[in-house]
Amino acid sequence: MNKTSVYIHTPYCKSKCRYCDFPSFSGMEDTVSEYFSALSKEISRSVHRGKKIDTVFFGGGTPSYVNEKYIAGVMDTLRENFTLSENCEITIETNPGTLTKDKLSTYKDCCINRISMGMQCHDDRILSVLGRIHTSEDIINGVELINSVGITNYNLDIMCALPTQKLRDLEKSLEFAVKLNPTHISAYSLIIEEGTPFYDTWQELDLPDEEEERKMYHLCKDYLASYGYERYEVSNYAKEGYICRHNKYCWDYEDYIGFGSAAHSFCRPVRWENVADVHGYISAIKNNTSPVRTFEELTREDMIEEYIMLALRKTEGIEISRLREEFGYDILSHKSIELSALIKSGYVGINDNNLFITEKGFDIADSITLKLL
Ligand code: SF4
Repeated sequence: MNKTSVYIHTPYCKSKCRYCDFPSFSGMEDTVSEYFSALSKEISRSVHRGKKIDTVFFGGGTPSYVNEKYIAGVMDTLRENFTLSENCEITIETNPGTLTKDKLSTYKDCCINRISMGMQCHDDRILSVLGRIHTSEDIINGVELINSVGITNYNLDIMCALPTQKLRDLEKSLEFAVKLNPTHISAYSLIIEEGTPFYDTWQELDLPDEEEERKMYHLCKDYLASYGYERYEVSNYAKEGYICRHNKYCWDYEDYIGFGSAAHSFCRPVRWENVADVHGYISAIKNNTSPVRTFEELTREDMIEEYIMLALRKTEGIEISRLREEFGYDILSHKSIELSALIKSGYVGINDNNLFITEKGFDIADSITLKLL
C-alpha cells in the first residue's frame, strides 16, 4: 500500500493507426510546448508531492514522437517534487518509426531504464493495413539503437487477430520478436473499437474467427514459454526478473497518480480522470483550475469487485489474506459453493494464500471471474 506509481500521458502521434481509440492526436504539434509546460505545472502543484515513487511510465500517444527535451524536463520536475525510489522502474513507450540515438541517449541520461516498443507484427503489408508508420526494418533498427545506448530492459508489443493474419504469420512475428531478445513481451488481440476507421470497415478486414483467435492465444503462450518468457498476466510475458512493475502495481490494485490530458489516477478509495481534450487540459492548468473531468469515490463493494477482477488477470491470482485484511472480505466463505465447483472442474486452484485461474480455466476466464464477483 505504500507503493505509488506515476503515469505521464503524451497525447501526440505522428499519425493515427486505424484501430486506435486511445486519447492521442496527430496534427497538434503546435501545442507540444504549452502542453509540457502545463504538465510540469500540474506535477508541481500536485497534492501528492513528496510521495515516494517506485515506477514511472511515459505512455500515450507516442512519447518518443516529441522532442526528448520535454521528456527530460518531466523527469526533472518529478525529481523536484517526488522522491524516486533507488531502483525506480522508469518506462517510456516508443514507436519504432520515431526513435533516434539522440532520443535514446537522453532517455538514458535522465535515468529512463525501460523501453516499451510497439512492434505489433513483422509483416510490412499488415503494418501498413494497420496504419503503422514503421516497417519491420525500423523495428530491428530501433532495437539496435536501444542496445547501442546500453538500455537492456525492453518490451515488445505484439498484436494478434490482425486483418488477414494466419497462425503461421503470428508464429513468424513471435519468431521475429524473440530474435530481438526483449526482456518482456505483451501480446494483445486486436479489438475493433467504435469510432475508429476499422470499426466502419470491419467486414472487409478478413479477421480471424473466434476459434482461430483462441489458437493464436495458445500459440503465443506456448511459443513464448519455450523461449523462457513466463506468462504472469493474461497478455503479458517476461523473462525471469523482468515483470513490468508498473503494470503489476495496477493489477495489484495499488495507488497510481496520472498527469497530463486523459490521465487516470487512483488513490484508494478515490479515482479521477483528467480531461482528454488537449486544449481543455492546457487552459485548465493555465487558469489554475482543475483539469479533472470525472471523480469517483468507490465503496467497499466496488473495491472488492475491482480487486478480484484485476487479481484474476494475473497467473498468481487473488491474495486471499490481503482481500480479508484490507477489505474485510473472506472469499473462501462467501463463494464456497462456486469455488468448490470450479476447483472440482480444474478451472481454479488454491495454494497457501492464493486463489488463481488455472491454465485450463484461462480459456473461460471471463465467466469464471463473473462467478467469483
Ligand atoms: S501509435 Fe499508438 S497511440 Fe498512436 S495512434 Fe498508433 S496505436 Fe494509437
